[in-house]
Amino acid sequence: MHADAFALRDLLGPAVDPCHRAITGESGVSLPPLIDHHVHLHLIDERNLPEGGIAGVLDLGGDPIGFARRGRVGMPRVAYAGAFLTVPGGYPSGRSWAPDAIVRVISDPSAHPGVPRGAATAVDEQASFGASVIKVALNTAAGPVFDAATLTAVVTAARGHGLPVVAHVEGHGMTRRALDAGVDVLAHTPFTELLEASSITQAVSSGQRWISTLAIHDDATAAATALANLEAFASAGGRVLYGTDLGNGDRRVGVIAEELAALDRAGVRGESLLDALCDPWPASAPAGVATFVPGPPPQSLDEVAEWLGGAIVVPSEELIHDDH
Ligand SMILES: [Zn+2]
Repeated sequence: MHADAFALRDLLGPAVDPCHRAITGESGVSLPPLIDHHVHLHLIDERNLPEGGIAGVLDLGGDPIGFARRGRVGMPRVAYAGAFLTVPGGYPSGRSWAPDAIVRVISDPSAHPGVPRGAATAVDEQASFGASVIKVALNTAAGPVFDAATLTAVVTAARGHGLPVVAHVEGHGMTRRALDAGVDVLAHTPFTELLEASSITQAVSSGQRWISTLAIHDDATAAATALANLEAFASAGGRVLYGTDLGNGDRRVGVIAEELAALDRAGVRGESLLDALCDPWPASAPAGVATFVPGPPPQSLDEVAEWLGGAIVVPSEELIHDDH
């Protein structure tokens, strides 16, 4: 390995390599495929994702029937939750971006299949349409939310299908409710309250994953609260996943350098930042493709976020590694 490769791996870990493109000769750096763990495909043009550096996505709220029709091939690799599960009148019912097709209402904690508005019925439907996760809304700022018993029934039904549960938590006590019910993943770093140390400890020790979405907040207090919570979670060893909530707001379709910069500020830097970006959870890694970042490699951790904003997806075979 030559000096460049050593310096680069010092910064970003063993998954990075100086390389050049076989066809154009352009030099740069190769990385594993990058994943955005929180998007809404019905609100963006997904064909732009690969040229923006994103090879895989997790859709956290869309029409389950549409997803079932599309099948599992193509680029980007798509994993999905299917519909938002919520209570009558609960978030995101009635939002302009959330047509009825992407929301399922639960008013009965029944574990029996086929019960109208039953917990198991809604979970079974998402599973039958090929969902990789189950998404629940716990947003007291926008209406009523699941009581503990019904939320537990949803989690139990998801466990029956071997599916993890992802929660949108917003409002006082909602992270606590998600933790108590055994929710596996938070769709956003909690942004409406500074969490107590006991909640952070429980989230870390239970193996909960948090999807970052630090850069979506217009409100400065929400942004600062999310940053502080993620900093505490990450420094305690919590598992962080890069996610942008792409489709929410008018933003570039691809890697969002502002999200990476915010993660960096929260202490998720270097190799940890790449882990958050490249973790293929909840599906297998996109096959046959790699990430290429053209141009000279970053010289310091401070340059990494902006540098990754130049990433594109390329066929793996197109990259010739320089260090041999
Ligand atoms: Zn979202």
